[in-house]
Amino acid sequence: MFCGIADGTQPASIVADAGEVLAFTDVQPAHSGHLLVVPREHATNLAELPAATGRAMFALAHRLAAALGRTDLPCDGINLFLADGAAAGQEVWHVHLHVLPRITGDGLIRITAEWQIRPRPELDEVARKLRAELMA
Ligand SMILES: [Zn+2]
Repeated sequence: MFCGIADGTQPASIVADAGEVLAFTDVQPAHSGHLLVVPREHATNLAELPAATGRAMFALAHRLAAALGRTDLPCDGINLFLADGAAAGQEVWHVHLHVLPRITGDGLIRITAEWQIRPRPELDEVARKLRAELMA
């Protein structure tokens, strides 16, 4: 689907073409101005995505977020959102970063107060596991 947009064989409302990454409007937007940033080269998920391409995706999303704030589209805030894997809500198997305008009170995605503050030793243990993987 997104490979077809990247090679021009499928229609999309292109917002930006930055070479290795491009951005277009989500065909089923949560709000007007909901954009997707994708790599031109197919990558199913983050594990397949070259690090440099990930940086380019974020850089373009960053520029788009600023641009959205300068338009007259309703936009009180922005979420950058990437679903990696089915459990995370990924439904299109070509990596894509959502640039999602938010409107006060829309209730789309929220950090909930029901998430409990965890004890420091537990947080330290999680951090230790991840530091070990980053150094591996
Ligand atoms: Zn693809």
